[in-house]
Amino acid sequence: LNQLYRPLNILGFAYREIKQALTDLERMFQLLEEPPEVIDAEQATDIKNVRGQVEFDAVDFHYEPDREILRGLSFKAEPGQTVAVVGPTGAGKSTLSRILYRFYDIAGGSVRIDGRDIRDITQASLRAAIGMVPQDTVLFNDTIGYNIAYARPDASQAEIEQAARDAQIHDFIASLPLGYDTMVGERGLKLSGGEKQRVAIARTLLKNPAILILDEATSALDSATEVDIQAALGLASQGRTTLVVAHRLSTIQDADLILVMDQGQIVERGTHAELLAKAGLYADLWTRQDTTELA
Ligand code: ATP
Repeated sequence: LNQLYRPLNILGFAYREIKQALTDLERMFQLLEEPPEVIDAEQATDIKNVRGQVEFDAVDFHYEPDREILRGLSFKAEPGQTVAVVGPTGAGKSTLSRILYRFYDIAGGSVRIDGRDIRDITQASLRAAIGMVPQDTVLFNDTIGYNIAYARPDASQAEIEQAARDAQIHDFIASLPLGYDTMVGERGLKLSGGEKQRVAIARTLLKNPAILILDEATSALDSATEVDIQAALGLASQGRTTLVVAHRLSTIQDADLILVMDQGQIVERGTHAELLAKAGLYADLWTRQDTTELA
């Protein structure tokens, strides 16, 4: 009987394992499920020669109908300006960048680029005009050169290297035995968070968009990396309208406009100096921070 029992037991075990794996797979697909699809309007046209004025006008937004996230939110950035968004975790900072990139449509108000409602613009041309440096960059299982150039496959090696130099990642790449031909990603060389972010910055520099969205990494970086990344971001934001989702106050002192968000609303706005003079929430955050991040 024991001889029969053991294989059955193993089978039972295998069955449970497989069932669990299938359940996990199902959950993974649920998690990966795309946000409700944003569709081009029939009369949508391309946006061309973007100057980069960005305006949120009384924007209402929710992910789920019964939970309002943004209410009547307004701000404006003139071409070339940098707007930084700060505030506690869950305030809605990253949501602004997702709305501008039109991952989601809004429930009320409008978002305009150069005066045009983004719902009247084709998504392809909208996204061509916006560079996005996310918190965590996904790399393809390909060479590091390909990963930098993929937004502009026609880029020359010299252009790729210049972008990498400006993003402060060239020296690192040049130090690898295979240089720009080094395989990266899941099955290749694993890059640190700071290195991946610089690859994303190099990508954006090559793409050369009129509008840049930077979602600062929450994870603490060592101070040398931080300095490199700040230098790269400084270069990347030059001559472009930039929306920075900031997790450290130290990085945004030069912004043309700082928005302090709390629970989906802008509770204070102004430059660094203006906000300090107000002695409100921003000033409070500024005094309380030492070297640590905000959220
Ligand atoms: P953090 O500093 O932690 O990144 P944040 O200020 O960027 O926070 P958001 O990511 O914009 O905050 O989130 C704002 C609110 O929207 C949060 O309450 C969050 O739970 C909710 N939220 C974010 N993404 C989704 C989603 N995909 N579905 C439902 N709710 C979401």
